[in-house]
Amino acid sequence: MTTTETDFADALSGLRERVTAPVALPGEPEYLRSNPWNVAGQITPGAVLFASTPDDVAETVRYAVANELKVTVQATGHGALVVNTDTVLVHTGAMTECVVDVDNRIARVGAGATGQHLLDAATPHGLAPVLGSSPTVGVVGLHTGGGIGPLVRSVGACADYVRAIDVVVGTGDLVRATPQQHPDLFWGLRGGKATLGIVTAMEIELLPIPEFYGGAVYFDGADAAAVLHAWREWCVGLPESITTSVALLQLPPLPGVPEPLAGRMTVAVRYVALGDVAAAERVLAPIHGAATPLVDTVGVTPYAAIGGVHADPVDPMPVYENQALLNTLSADGIDAVLALAGPTAQSLQTIVEFRMLGGALARAPRVDSALCHRDAAYSLTTIGLPMPDLAERVTAHAHAIVDALAPWSHGGQFPNFAPSTDPDRPARVYTDAVRQRLAAAGDRYDPAGVYRAGQVVRLP
Ligand SMILES: Cc1cc2nc3c(=O)[nH]c(=O)nc-3n(C[C@H](O)[C@H](O)[C@H](O)COP(=O)(O)OP(=O)(O)OC[C@H]3O[C@@H](n4cnc5c(N)ncnc54)[C@H](O)[C@@H]3O)c2cc1C
Repeated sequence: MTTTETDFADALSGLRERVTAPVALPGEPEYLRSNPWNVAGQITPGAVLFASTPDDVAETVRYAVANELKVTVQATGHGALVVNTDTVLVHTGAMTECVVDVDNRIARVGAGATGQHLLDAATPHGLAPVLGSSPTVGVVGLHTGGGIGPLVRSVGACADYVRAIDVVVGTGDLVRATPQQHPDLFWGLRGGKATLGIVTAMEIELLPIPEFYGGAVYFDGADAAAVLHAWREWCVGLPESITTSVALLQLPPLPGVPEPLAGRMTVAVRYVALGDVAAAERVLAPIHGAATPLVDTVGVTPYAAIGGVHADPVDPMPVYENQALLNTLSADGIDAVLALAGPTAQSLQTIVEFRMLGGALARAPRVDSALCHRDAAYSLTTIGLPMPDLAERVTAHAHAIVDALAPWSHGGQFPNFAPSTDPDRPARVYTDAVRQRLAAAGDRYDPAGVYRAGQVVRLP
């Protein structure tokens, strides 16, 4: 080891003596508790700090600043990050606090809480958190990336409902950010991921939505062209009380995957309608006529079961995601995707989905945030399983699908769907103005650059 490497190793092992929370070093059994949900992530930190309190996070950051270490954060590990040995990973998985103030419709959510924790706390009171498609995702990770979910057209992005944020900034200070207190932090933490600090808790407005009319209609993959084209035409003029997506699925025959959907290509039209049930049933009718459904889960559904609409995978797996935001969805665009990912294409993707955007997402939120590209009309997202022998082909195939949509592309990507490893990620995810503002705020709140690891936006 060189002197620098020795100093660095000493600093990492010294962390244990200086902080009260448990620390695990490489080779120790506890270190494996930081294995991410998304096992495609390359998580090999120099040390893992298992935080239970905001003070644990603050102490770690102060120690890292003093010893020139870098710090990043992980809750569930859905994010497919690369974390190297020069970085301390703050693991927030134990910080699962979810306290609901029913009268004011606000939930206070710890950094490690998942969507399921929040659903469990809020829905018994008839209150709904605005979440993404999968309740296994971390609430803070979702919201710091904007959060685009199965109600997005009706209610907007998840981040639009954040009311206050407690965050440890790069000096190790614990700061409360609201529209009035540290407004630049409040702006940048909603869309800017971990650029401005490690969030220890968020206060989130809940909506009075005890149930919705929705679910998914599944068709045989052989009907993909008929269903996708019917869906595209049907979307034109849909009211914003309805949010919908359509996905080409190749689900493996695993426990939990219903038999008619396993081991073959199927097509799912997802549908969530708020308001009048009879009207919502009438609007959906043309989709039932697009082909013969294999499975139909649409009905009046308690909000607690919102995760069933997309029925995303629950168990840890490797995932490579890519995305194209679109200005428009044309029949030629559908055909371009079918040529690469349709029933005769031998697609390497597990999920290829179009989500209809617009509605409330396209309007400016009550308080401005760093989430960009709210004007995109549709998103196309690919999800593939980069198993070791297939990884390069899965990734290349995902890129080919995104590239095939270039004529209709908006050019941007949302923070939660852009590949973490793409060096052009900041330029795709943020406008130039937002990128500059985030980077300048990063320099102010993290002058030592302790957070220069993971999904952060800084200028070189
Ligand atoms: C199956 C699946 C379905 C998904 N569905 C949706 C969806 O419908 N809508 C959507 O918008 N996204 C969706 N995502 C993307 C998901 O929201 C992001 O990957 C999110 O960052 C995951 O957060 P996490 O905490 O679970 O994961 P982690 O890997 O633990 O965290 C990922 C990143 O979130 C940020 N982060 C986490 N904790 C903190 C913290 N305490 N302070 C600051 N930053 C933090 C950091 O940048 C971190 O690198 C999906 C992902 C998967 C795998």
